[in-house]
Amino acid sequence: MNDKELRIVQGHFRTFYQRQMPSVPALNQRELGFGWLKKIDFRHKAFSSQRDFERFVLQDVPLFMSASTAYYRFPDKQPMPQKEFSGADLVFDLDAPRSKDHSGLSRSDGVSVAHDDFFCEGCLLDVHQQALRIMEFLKDDFGLQGSLVFSGQKGFHVHVRSEAVWDLSKEARRQMAEYVGAEGLDAESFFQKATGYSDSSERNVGVLQGPSEQSGGWAGKIHAVMHAAIEKNDVAALKTFGVSKKHRDDIAARPLELLEQLRLGHWSAFCSKPNVEALMDAVKVVQTDKAVTFDLHRLIRIPGSLHGSTGFEAKVLAKPDIFQLQDVLAFDSNQKMTVIPKDALKFEFLGQSYDLPRARFAEVPLPLGIFLLCQEKAFGP
Ligand SMILES: [Zn+2]
Repeated sequence: MNDKELRIVQGHFRTFYQRQMPSVPALNQRELGFGWLKKIDFRHKAFSSQRDFERFVLQDVPLFMSASTAYYRFPDKQPMPQKEFSGADLVFDLDAPRSKDHSGLSRSDGVSVAHDDFFCEGCLLDVHQQALRIMEFLKDDFGLQGSLVFSGQKGFHVHVRSEAVWDLSKEARRQMAEYVGAEGLDAESFFQKATGYSDSSERNVGVLQGPSEQSGGWAGKIHAVMHAAIEKNDVAALKTFGVSKKHRDDIAARPLELLEQLRLGHWSAFCSKPNVEALMDAVKVVQTDKAVTFDLHRLIRIPGSLHGSTGFEAKVLAKPDIFQLQDVLAFDSNQKMTVIPKDALKFEFLGQSYDLPRARFAEVPLPLGIFLLCQEKAFGP
């Protein structure tokens, strides 16, 4: 960003921080990092009070603010061992979706989304779904409560601040990140040829035993996914999971009976050859940056701060299940801003289409104007 655009963006960021300042839990034990040109231009900064932190933010107006997931006795000392590490939050970082096909996704208002290279809400919705899976793993498998935070640009972070995780070793964190991604997991082993059994009509219905209502961990999740597909009679999902036409007809005709078979783990009653990989895909988390989880000295975007590449707020989602772009806009969409696009720009933003010619004054909503300056796609007026 040139000096002029930097000053414009900083002016708006300062106005935002005057109204709403992020607060970092246990601030005096955290190492902080700040960036103007890069995401982190300098680190090893510490503040003994929220007031000092606020004074710094309002005066220097960084475009990027990060804090350590770790707690230190002396957070500003160097080299690292001098800081005296005393524990760390558990954080998962999710970035960049698996595919540009967003056909199964829609916004909270029900409108479907198509991929757009310039700015893609669909990609955000895709990653949000993955982040929700992490939240479920934490709750169901580890008994932990995470908070879900929009990263401010392309992804999401899940933070666990419970004391229960502070002492987790690097290796334990790595294993957790691998577990949610089903790495090294032999899911085929959840399915076994068992001795025959009979259904209510005393027919011998087969010998494939799989995850049941009693199963925990990954097997329990596979049970849940199949349960949901049968319960909703979700034909597309059943097909993907390897349920034959004949069995799908059975499910449509007598769902309760087959749900009961599933509860007992009698898979051959409704599926003779499950597509285990597809079942796993419906549960696993594929795009975590594992290094963020196991690196105990990582700095991560401060929740409630602004992201200098977008001007969006790295916001804690009060209702994790719902992500709406308008909720993370830091500036009023009713206000206008004039920008001069560096090139012709054609894109969609907040449901509105834009076709802006190169090097002409364009009046756009303030959040979009700041986004274009942050993305270095436009000059300021
Ligand atoms: Zn996309």
